[in-house]
Amino acid sequence: MKKHNFSAGPSILPQSVLLKASEAIVDYNNTGLSLIEISHRSKEFVDIMENARSLALELLGLEGKGYKALFLQGGASMQFLMVAMNLLEKRAGYLDTGAWSAKAIKEARKLDDIYEVASSAEANYNYIPKGFDIPSDYDYFHCTSNNTIFGTQMKTFPKTNIPMVCDMSSDIFSRTLDFSQFDLLYAGAQKNMGPAGTTLVVVKEDILGKVSRDIPSIMDYKSHIKAGSMFNTPPVFPVYTSMLTLEWLKGLGGIAGIEKENDKKATLMYSEIDLNPLFKGFAAKEDRSKMNATFNLVNENLKETFETMLKEAGISAVNGHRSVGGYRASMYNALPLDSVKVLVEVMSELETKA
Ligand SMILES: *Cc1c(COP(=O)(O)O)cnc(C)c1O
Repeated sequence: MKKHNFSAGPSILPQSVLLKASEAIVDYNNTGLSLIEISHRSKEFVDIMENARSLALELLGLEGKGYKALFLQGGASMQFLMVAMNLLEKRAGYLDTGAWSAKAIKEARKLDDIYEVASSAEANYNYIPKGFDIPSDYDYFHCTSNNTIFGTQMKTFPKTNIPMVCDMSSDIFSRTLDFSQFDLLYAGAQKNMGPAGTTLVVVKEDILGKVSRDIPSIMDYKSHIKAGSMFNTPPVFPVYTSMLTLEWLKGLGGIAGIEKENDKKATLMYSEIDLNPLFKGFAAKEDRSKMNATFNLVNENLKETFETMLKEAGISAVNGHRSVGGYRASMYNALPLDSVKVLVEVMSELETKA
C-alpha cells in the first residue's frame, strides 16, 4: 500500500509521473530503447530537454522576458558557489534565514566579501527578519524563499535596485509570485519537481558577464546557456522526470491551480496544530511555511504513542530535522490533501486518548 509520504526531500512525486518515468527506463516511447541508454544528443532527448526548459519558463510566467532555464548538476549546494562565481565582484548582501542560507553565505565568502543584511540565527531561525536595508551598490542580494528545515517562508520580497537571487529549492512552483522580481532563481529538483540529480536555474541573461574573474567553463552560466543546457552530458532521467512533473502541473492549471490545493493543505495542518493543545508550532505564525510545517509535542511522554499511531496510519517521514527536533510535515505539490487529513485525524485521535 502507498504510504502518506511527508518526506522533506527527496520527496513525493505524482503517481502518474512515477509510472510514466518507470516505463521510459525500460522502453522509451516504443523506441525499443531505454531513455537512459540513448544519446543525450538524440532527437528524443533534445526534445525532452527543450520541453523541460520551456515548461519551466512558461509555468513561472517568464517566457520572452530575457530569462534562460537550465538543468544543471551539483544540487542547490553547487549554486551557492556558482552564483558567487558568476555575480560577485566586490560585495553582496545575504539574508540569513536558515541552515541553507548560512551555507550559501559560507561558500560565497570563499570568493569575496559577504554582508549579512539580517539574520534570525539567534532564535534558531524560527522567523523571517524584516525591515532590513539592502545597500544599492552591492553586486546582488541573495535570499531563501522557503526554509525547509525550520518551516518558515518569505511572504514578501524586498524591493531593491540590485539583482535579486533566490534559493527556491523547497517552494518553487508551489505559489503564485511575480517571478520577474528575481534575476536568478535556483532549485534542486528533489523537493518539488523530480528526483535528485538536477537543479533548475532560471537566470536573466543581462546580469551575466559583469565580473572580472576567469570563471571555469563548467561553472559559467554562459557556457550552459550557449550549449542549450548540454555543456556536458545532462542527467537525462532526472530531467525527463522533472519534465513529466511540470507537464502534470500544467495539466492542473499551473501554479495557480496547485496553489489552491496547497493552501487547503496548509490551512488544515496549521489549524490542527493551533487547536490541539498537545501540539505547539515551531515557526512564528506570520512566517509559517505552506510547504513544511514544523511542530512539537507539548508533552514528550506522548512521543511513543504518537509515533506508533503515525506508523499504523501509514504515515511516513514526519520526523523533524535534527536541528529543530519534533515533527515536520512536508506538504509538497504532489502530496494529496487526503494525506494531510489522515495526519490531522491521528493528531486529534491522540488528543482523545491523552
Ligand atoms: C534541500 C535544500 C538545499 C540543498 O539542496 P542539494 O540539492 O542537496 O544541494 C538547498 N536549499 C534549500 C532551501 C533546500 O531545501
